[in-house]
Amino acid sequence: MIHLEDINKTYYSGAPLHVLKGINLDIERGEFVSIMGASGSGKSTLLNILGLLDNYDTGNYYLNDVLMKKLSETKAAEYRNRMIGFIFQSFNLISFKNAMENVALPLFYQNVSRKKRNIEAMEYLDRLGLKDWAHHMPNELSGGQKQRVAIARALISKPQIILADEPTGALDSKTSDEVMEILKEVNDSGMTLIVVTHESGVANCTNKIIHIKDGIIESIEDNSNHNISPFGKGIMMK
Ligand code: ADP
Ligand code: MG
Repeated sequence: MIHLEDINKTYYSGAPLHVLKGINLDIERGEFVSIMGASGSGKSTLLNILGLLDNYDTGNYYLNDVLMKKLSETKAAEYRNRMIGFIFQSFNLISFKNAMENVALPLFYQNVSRKKRNIEAMEYLDRLGLKDWAHHMPNELSGGQKQRVAIARALISKPQIILADEPTGALDSKTSDEVMEILKEVNDSGMTLIVVTHESGVANCTNKIIHIKDGIIESIEDNSNHNISPFGKGIMMK
């Protein structure tokens, strides 16, 4: 699904900073992968390139066999809306919209009617155990609830891949385990997930750990035999 060949990226704001130094990587459909490394190692840069939020300088990025190179902003936005769901450390919910409206937002951009958007959003909130919180504003929700709203919002447009940048970075360890268990269930339903983290406990929830250091992939660890955590609730089973 994802094929990266010798991807290089340098930032030129100030002194040039060569952040990605020849990344080669393949990710198959249905994988649950983490990208792990120290702060500043280039994880977010790599994820942003994968999510078409940023351009790379040299190399090739193929997504479903299509070369993603210097796309126009319109074309990149079209791919993003159709194929990719994002989850962020800081949730990125819209503060003046309630949980249901936040979840429904991607459908607004697909010109789905308000009634249909809200019905769909309620269904996803229900799956994530948040039906009773649909009309609450983000500042009335706990961190874990906010991240579940963000997961519902990422899922509603039925993307092919979900990219999560430090999705548990703002959560306590119990809530963090719960969020990772939900992402595991999302993966069990067939979704491809890529999670960036600097925490080994989070990476250990995924099936493959890509270790990145100073813009280079150091090693790729098969973690498919890791212990299943006891938090399963069957949220995504349908
Ligand atoms: P990580 O997510 O692993 O912490 P990043 O990919 O965010 O690392 O950043 C890698 C390096 O690139 C860091 O030194 C960071 O300061 C720098 N960097 C990130 N984004 C930019 C930018 N837009 N402009 C200039 N430098 C950046
Ligand atoms: Mg980062």
